[in-house]
Amino acid sequence: MKTVENMKSGRAGTTLPLPGILDHRAFRRSSVSLGHCTLCNNGPAMYHSDTQRASICEKCYARLVREANKEEGGVR
Ligand SMILES: [Zn+2]
Repeated sequence: MKTVENMKSGRAGTTLPLPGILDHRAFRRSSVSLGHCTLCNNGPAMYHSDTQRASICEKCYARLVREANKEEGGVR
């Protein structure tokens, strides 16, 4: 299991979580208001994950999917 600390260069708490850390499969589309996106803090959150305690917008969700696909294709 990789830790978040190892994947970041600094340990300041202000850094946005890297998209690669979150698993888009853990997110579910929510019909209730989730507030602002955890990742970009900009768009309205459309997806929520209980296990990862995050709510993300459609753009960030798409980004997670893209990152996941990239990883699956490149790294074994
Ligand atoms: Zn977002």
